[in-house]
Amino acid sequence: MDNEILIVEDESRIARFISLELEHEGYKTKSIISGREGLEEALKKDYDLVILDVMLPDLNGIEVLRRLRQVKSTPVIILTARDQVMDKVAGLDLGASDYMTKPFAIEELLARIRANIKKHVGIRASELVFGRLRVDTEARKATYGDEPVDLSKKEFDLLVYLLENRNIVISREKMLDGVWGFEFFGNTNVVDVYIRYLRVKIDEKYGINMIETVRGAGYIIRE
Ligand code: CA
Repeated sequence: MDNEILIVEDESRIARFISLELEHEGYKTKSIISGREGLEEALKKDYDLVILDVMLPDLNGIEVLRRLRQVKSTPVIILTARDQVMDKVAGLDLGASDYMTKPFAIEELLARIRANIKKHVGIRASELVFGRLRVDTEARKATYGDEPVDLSKKEFDLLVYLLENRNIVISREKMLDGVWGFEFFGNTNVVDVYIRYLRVKIDEKYGINMIETVRGAGYIIRE
């Protein structure tokens, strides 16, 4: 597989353990004990993933991540201590792909590494992702897991509009305007009809709660 992983961890016992396990699984690894040098290395070379301890003596992991994210989207799994809830939150806010709380089972770390490398490689610029739902706006195809989701043109457009505006409550009028535009001169009921179609094809079919109704305001897809 030849994926290369950078390990930034000052506790040599842990770093060595992770590195041995990863190499056993076929990864190439490099271990660095300082935050400052770890950041330099992660910027210099394109690693497939970085395992980043938060508590580092010179530059802490959160700061390393913040500076790395200004330049690169390399997947990062941060390692935090059990009582460092704030680090976990800060790390995820800054764009960490995942976190592990020490002490952790190596199998779990390996699973997260696999998942995060795969996710990173799999995402295309034209793709909108919501959980297991993937919507490719260029190929105009939607899939849920491995299954294709069969959508009409308007259903597809509405779904894309909702996903592109996620975390925002969108009124029916706005949706009409954004999705149907000039070609439509009816009332906003058509939006409810199409939301219903999407819910049958996605929410109900896969047992998820993707599209929420906000009473008197419209609809929202929340992250
Ligand atoms: Ca440490």
